Amino acid sequence: MSHEGIRFVSKEEQARESEGNRPISRIAITPEKVRVLLTEGKGLEIDWADGHRSAWGFAWLRDACPCATCVDERKNEGRKIGQPKSKAADLLPMYKPLAKPASAHAVGRYALQFNWLDGHSGGIYSWEYLRRNCQCRECTFAAAETTGSPN
Ligand SMILES: [Zn+2]
Ligand SMILES: [Zn+2]
Repeated sequence: MSHEGIRFVSKEEQARESEGNRPISRIAITPEKVRVLLTEGKGLEIDWADGHRSAWGFAWLRDACPCATCVDERKNEGRKIGQPKSKAADLLPMYKPLAKPASAHAVGRYALQFNWLDGHSGGIYSWEYLRRNCQCRECTFAAAETTGSPN
């Protein structure tokens, strides 16, 4: 039941998805501590080897799913990584699936995978992807400075 065939991503698309490819050091994408706050339902926290600490809410992570299907969906709807679907596109709010994972596990030594309660699990969240999309104040401020808003 997979619709996720091989796809070729153009340079332009890649740049758009990664929100500006600033160089990143290996130490910055080496996690020292990974905490998935499943029982609290809060999100993911990572302490990196360079001393930086990142935190992401589960709703953000679900809307930032890096699988080909979600990447396409975001592209078609003009959404950024982690940006929720517009209200108009939503079904009745009561049918909105919970943006929470039932479980999470490591993929090799480079990534994390979530099994979302809505049944989705195709996204592999690499450390680099997560670090590049760090949602802490400092990083989101820096990203807003460099990318600005096209609209
Ligand atoms: Zn996905
Ligand atoms: Zn950060």
